[in-house]
Amino acid sequence: MSENKRVEKIAGVKGMNDILPADAPLWELFENTVQSVLKSYGYQQIRTPIVEPTALFARGLGEVTDIVEKEMYSFVDSMNGDQLTLRPESTAGVVRAALEHNLTYDGPKRLWYAGPMFRHERPQRGRYRQFHQVGAEALGFTGPDIDAELIMLCQRLWDDLGLRDVRLELNSIGNADERNRHRADLVAYFERHKDVLDTDAQRRLYSNPLRILDTKNPTMQEMVNGAPKLLDYLGEESRAHFEGVQKILRHNNIPFSINPRLVRGMDYYNRTVFEWVTDQLGSQGTVCGGGRYDPLIEMFGGKPTPACGFAMGVERLLELMKANGDHFAPNQCDVYIVHQGNEAQMHAFVIAERLRDAGLDVVLHCAAAGGGGSFKSQMKRADGSGASFAVILGEDEVAKGVATVKAMRSADTENNQHSVAFDTVVDYIVDQITCGDDCDHPEHHH
Ligand code: ATP
Ligand code: MG
Repeated sequence: MSENKRVEKIAGVKGMNDILPADAPLWELFENTVQSVLKSYGYQQIRTPIVEPTALFARGLGEVTDIVEKEMYSFVDSMNGDQLTLRPESTAGVVRAALEHNLTYDGPKRLWYAGPMFRHERPQRGRYRQFHQVGAEALGFTGPDIDAELIMLCQRLWDDLGLRDVRLELNSIGNADERNRHRADLVAYFERHKDVLDTDAQRRLYSNPLRILDTKNPTMQEMVNGAPKLLDYLGEESRAHFEGVQKILRHNNIPFSINPRLVRGMDYYNRTVFEWVTDQLGSQGTVCGGGRYDPLIEMFGGKPTPACGFAMGVERLLELMKANGDHFAPNQCDVYIVHQGNEAQMHAFVIAERLRDAGLDVVLHCAAAGGGGSFKSQMKRADGSGASFAVILGEDEVAKGVATVKAMRSADTENNQHSVAFDTVVDYIVDQITCGDDCDHPEHHH
């Protein structure tokens, strides 16, 4: 590259974020906690492709949904003309895979997934074009027990993550017959208030009137509040199912409030719907949504199979974790190795490997642009790494067959450096970490 000609940088895609090392510990903490909670309820992971046939979402989500109408990244495969879409959600893909591999042949299945989703939305706080979801899908279960279990699993996750002020809103949207009877009355009601309907609502008046209840338009709120409530149209069975969910939640001290206007964006839901919401994230306050989708599997050509699930927005939950404070930033390593000279470097490699054999995380200083670095600049790196110990190897040390081990976090700054023979460096450090007074590795304490 010529000296005076700078190459123009290419920026990432708008609304699609890089997750940088500074945030990695938070992501790891979240992912590990999620995994262990899901495992503790017997859910098994499934990984499906990010790209699916467009028809899968058109059929699964319904043509008149925000996602299918305007949020999908769809494209034609230039090799064969196939219509493809970057998944905007994962339920459709999981159900497709379950049918394709006949996963429920021997009974119901508890599944979970995690990964990036893609929606062409206006990027803003808590709303991105590539974002991440963790979700669970319980396939083949009929009763209210699994609905309650999924909700309790979420509650346990919030507790384990230290999240406060996430509240549960619950509703039942009944079955298709009940919704149809309600719908007829609802359309008639909206027709009587046509002057208040915005353009979105007018467009949905006959195609998806239930969604009008979900409006965020303040000028429509009062009218919408007076609309016929679906809960009043539930038949015996739907009501019993809804009661069943509530009974289990009450028995397990899971607080909830019933929100009769809660509906989900996707067409395939029935009976139980729920959302976990917080006031701490501004207008993007829904961190998790879910419910029952008994009709979906049959819509995909499978035999009737009841199912229930949820999806949570990882970015929103991470923001909540940050807002809820005290999350430690784990250190990059336990030991940082500082060295100078060719011979010292050879010893440094050997000691680093032995320390790793002993289970420690070790960063060995390596040459960067501008050379290996003075002792002083290397020690600065050691300090920045958060390591508990620095192992220092210079010509003096090599000549004596020792390493200088410095306790980086010791309060006793007079007496925090010791010469230790090469062969005993590992034992010395392991011993210090296990038994040292100022040990900050709780996992190393007996
Ligand atoms: P919203 O009403 O906020 O658009 P939604 O109903 O479209 O949400 P779902 O499809 O139910 O959302 O997805 C489940 C969760 O995924 C949401 O509750 C939210 O936490 C998260 N989520 C959805 N869309 C986005 C996005 N564009 N960016 C970040 N998180 C999102
Ligand atoms: Mg949306």
